[in-house]
Amino acid sequence: MKYKFITRGDEASENIKNLIRDIYLKNDEEVESNPEHVFAIGGDGTFLRAVHDLVSCTSKDCQIPCVVHGINTGTLGFFTSYTPVKEQLEELFNRIRIDQLCTRTIRPLSFGVVFDDNTSQQGLAINEITITTAERKTLTAKIIIDNNNFEKFKGTGLCISTTIGSTAYNKSLGGAVVHPDLDVIQLTEMAGINSASYQTLSSPMVLPADSSIEVETSDNLVITFDHCSMSLNQSNKKIKYIWISQSAFEFKLDTTNNNNFIKKLKRSFIISE
Ligand code: NAD
Repeated sequence: MKYKFITRGDEASENIKNLIRDIYLKNDEEVESNPEHVFAIGGDGTFLRAVHDLVSCTSKDCQIPCVVHGINTGTLGFFTSYTPVKEQLEELFNRIRIDQLCTRTIRPLSFGVVFDDNTSQQGLAINEITITTAERKTLTAKIIIDNNNFEKFKGTGLCISTTIGSTAYNKSLGGAVVHPDLDVIQLTEMAGINSASYQTLSSPMVLPADSSIEVETSDNLVITFDHCSMSLNQSNKKIKYIWISQSAFEFKLDTTNNNNFIKKLKRSFIISE
């Protein structure tokens, strides 16, 4: 199999990487691009970085989605399925060899910023995309959903999250936690100001995953996508609009030991057992 490691970079994660490479992967091929398996060793942040790396190192014509395995070297997170103990690592590699992993197909969100000269800048998010102003002023934006002029927003910003991102920033903003069996996207406001001139729905809105959202604004922006960010100064180049939709790229998340969403929610947000 063709594999790749992404680690948090700390000593514990690097040691686990070397151990796995020496014991379980000695007859396999470590590659830079188009891996079949990615081992993300660290926490949820490492997993997000691993998927962003995977997008950048996967060819467009690659047909088989890569499986990403989260091995935690901290506390058990949302994306990690294994702790680096002998029994669990043996289970992981046995399951890979006999093709008996439990996986969930994940399709991130894509976004594009289209400028008035028709050039564009694009990105992708596993958890969420946020749009705020660069100078921490209020954002003024027109929101178009599935080609319908929907609302005029004024407030701190907007968050568009995936199903698996619903428990991240979206949740802190009062968005709904969404069960991973549902294929949806969610639009959440960040401190919307409602007045006679700017009327918005105010509630988080859950939409079918194939919905398209467009945002038009003349403000200077910061767009975050997971742990990454992009600054856009409109005095350099005017933005025509920003589009957000589900991406065509997909990968498989190994959920073998961390598949019970209700247990995961309880452990993370209510009480750790
Ligand atoms: P990080 O890696 O420290 O992650 C921040 C926290 O979010 C960690 O505790 C992590 O376990 C948790 N997390 C990440 N994805 C999650 C998910 N899908 N469900 C539940 N918890 C999740 O910080 P970072 O590297 O900046 O990570 C980026 C993520 O941090 C963003 O995608 C965003 O969701 C989150 N974030 C949250 C807030 C907030 O809640 N106020 C603000 C900024 C960013």
